[in-house]
Amino acid sequence: MIYDHILVRYGELTLKGANRKTFVSQLRSNVKSALMPLKGYEVKANRDRMYIKLEPEADIEEMIRRISKVYGVHSISPVMKMDKTMDDVYEQAITFAEEYEKGNSFKIEVKRSDKQFEYDTYDIQRAVGGAILKNVDDLHVDVKHPDHEIRVEVRLDAIYMYDRVIPAIGGLPVGTGGKTLLMLSGGIDSPVAGMEVMRRGVTIEAIHFHSPPFTSEKAKEKVIELTRIMATHVGTIKLHIVPFTEVQKQIHKVVHERYTMTSTRRLMLRIADKVVHQIGADAIVNGENLGQVASQTLKSMYAINAVTTTPILRPLLSLDKSDIIEKAKAIGTFETSIQPYEDCCTIFTPKNPVTEPQYEKVVQYESGFDFEEMIQRAVDNIETLVIDKNYDIHQTEKNSWADDLF
Ligand code: ATP
Ligand code: MG
Repeated sequence: MIYDHILVRYGELTLKGANRKTFVSQLRSNVKSALMPLKGYEVKANRDRMYIKLEPEADIEEMIRRISKVYGVHSISPVMKMDKTMDDVYEQAITFAEEYEKGNSFKIEVKRSDKQFEYDTYDIQRAVGGAILKNVDDLHVDVKHPDHEIRVEVRLDAIYMYDRVIPAIGGLPVGTGGKTLLMLSGGIDSPVAGMEVMRRGVTIEAIHFHSPPFTSEKAKEKVIELTRIMATHVGTIKLHIVPFTEVQKQIHKVVHERYTMTSTRRLMLRIADKVVHQIGADAIVNGENLGQVASQTLKSMYAINAVTTTPILRPLLSLDKSDIIEKAKAIGTFETSIQPYEDCCTIFTPKNPVTEPQYEKVVQYESGFDFEEMIQRAVDNIETLVIDKNYDIHQTEKNSWADDLF
């Protein structure tokens, strides 16, 4: 085996003391859950970095692929850990170099944090480079633009050697920044919005408004699939599915057609706000983007936002659509989002929605009916699913709607 550990470098964990401990232990637990149910490893996290000790049967590439998606991980290297004897170092460097293509160049980079070690940086560099040149044919040294960089870290406990540094997703470990409720439609934007806040360490639960029979079972499955994809980055995500048909029909009875979109959003938000309190979250996240569609003008945001004082986070507010699409592709939700199943709003969307709704008007329309009881009924009938990366919709529908929530 060329490598016997995976070295995991932390992102921006500049925190000190107890906070740092919390961060590291959360990251450790997130990495472990990302690796489940793989076998053949042991995770050890210390304050500066994490080492995953590998058994011979470990699937190292699959492990790296999974760890690189965990927020809070900055980069990853498969490494060889050695006793502090130069003979072992030579032998290992030669093993690495034997894998390189003929004609390639390399460079030896040494970091020597054990200042007592008997050889200095320059000695090690020269000796290791020399050992490779002597034992492996057709390689040469290039210190400016090498094809391969072999790094030797002389630390107090051991010498670590590696020749790959794989960039990871960065950000902060999810679970260290509080909890939010993500309004998840089946579109492109809201999953990206959710990932943006998770990137900063925030846990999400998702809420989706579903209006059968106007929206199909397929639309619901699409949202479940989006949640599943997001969960590959964080382990599990709870998805609350709100039966919204009754509310939506009532809106169309009492509100002027041009204002139904505004009212629909307001009622979604009133329901979301109740769920926020029930799940102990502190903010709502949505995928709104300034100027993208009729409901996303400032006037519209004002009229919609007025139903709650809970902070509403809009991580995509100022992004261009093309950038949002890039992000959706990177997190793997794009292909699912563009499937054609209608979400509840497209079906009820008026032909000519007002783009600059007046707050007073929408309040006046809504005053024609007391929605409170209906809102409560919708909340009481929420279906909550706990979704992980292996979630199988068909299996779940039969036996395990989660009932452990409120
Ligand atoms: P998206 O691509 O996320 O659907 P969008 O550009 O289609 O966004 P809108 O339809 O105006 O924009 O929706 C704005 C935001 O409202 C969405 O990003 C989402 O956060 C929320 N939202 C819309 N419909 C639903 C729904 N059925 N369930 C939950 N949230 C929704
Ligand atoms: Mg949408």
